[in-house]
Amino acid sequence: MRENAGVQSIETIAVIGAGTMGHGIGQVAAAAGFKVLLSDVSRDALSRGVSAIEKNLAKGIQLGKLTEAESDRILQQIRGTTNLAECARADLIIEAVPERLDLKQDIVRQLEGASDQPFVFASNTSSLSITEIGRSSQRPQNVIGMHFFNPVHIMRLIEVVVGENTSDDTVQTAVAIGKRLRKEPIVVKDVPGFASSRLGVALGLEAMRMLEQGVASASDIDTAMELGYNHPMGPLKLTDLVGLDVRLNIAEYLHRELGSETFRPPEVLRRLVSEGKLGKKTGQGFYSWNDKGDTRGAHSS
Ligand code: NAD
Repeated sequence: MRENAGVQSIETIAVIGAGTMGHGIGQVAAAAGFKVLLSDVSRDALSRGVSAIEKNLAKGIQLGKLTEAESDRILQQIRGTTNLAECARADLIIEAVPERLDLKQDIVRQLEGASDQPFVFASNTSSLSITEIGRSSQRPQNVIGMHFFNPVHIMRLIEVVVGENTSDDTVQTAVAIGKRLRKEPIVVKDVPGFASSRLGVALGLEAMRMLEQGVASASDIDTAMELGYNHPMGPLKLTDLVGLDVRLNIAEYLHRELGSETFRPPEVLRRLVSEGKLGKKTGQGFYSWNDKGDTRGAHSS
């Protein structure tokens, strides 16, 4: 017997949390033809999410990527709700609430309490353990990670994160849904940093150590990766976009969990964060940023 309904029978996807990631996940699910239930704690949060989708779609029309009729159809597929229990009737539930284990576990319990339907529960967590989230579930075999990237309607990767108790059926369902959402799913074990953050953060931290050692300037280190390795953006500029505080938190977490010196946060990162130089959002990080969001020159060390 199958442990969940399987990909063929997935018609409705509920997205819990309509913030930065949730609205994007709702948009791509609706664009792929699924009925979408978008849930948040307040009407205000929901309407912010829907406005963000409308803005993305309007930009798409302007760029000639979709028609008015397609945009209308996508919006009609989406229904908002502030009643979490309603989402328990969905076939697949993807949560994108803030990054707190207790909150995510509580949502699983509430949903399972509201319905006996054996939905697949996917978490968009960027760092929490899927196995731990699954411990709050009566059906941990149906709990999985589907880690999308920001902005969701543009970024093509999904990390499908397999917890200790996740079943093969659930992995197959998540991979198939990822493809239906026109993404490129990769399957990753439930380890700290999954595949993407572990590799991306390691590169960024090494670039910072090279900057500290005077190997080259920030912009030359970035150019090495952009022109020599065809990365669309160098690791220091990317750190400025993500936020130095966000990167420091992840580095501390990976250093603690993996016990590897590769992830020890470099001094320059700690110093810039303590000075409030958090990257693009504060106008200064490894680069200076102007109001238009362009760089004005790089920090020397
Ligand atoms: P966000 O703060 O933009 O959005 C979270 C939303 O969840 C808010 O609208 C909030 O009102 C809502 N919410 C809070 N409690 C809720 C509840 N009990 N029920 C329903 N909705 C609730 O956060 P985000 O940046 O979208 O991040 C969400 C998740 O996605 C986190 O786990 C984060 O680690 C992960 N993630 C974020 C990014 C990113 O770049 N922002 C990338 C990948 C993964």
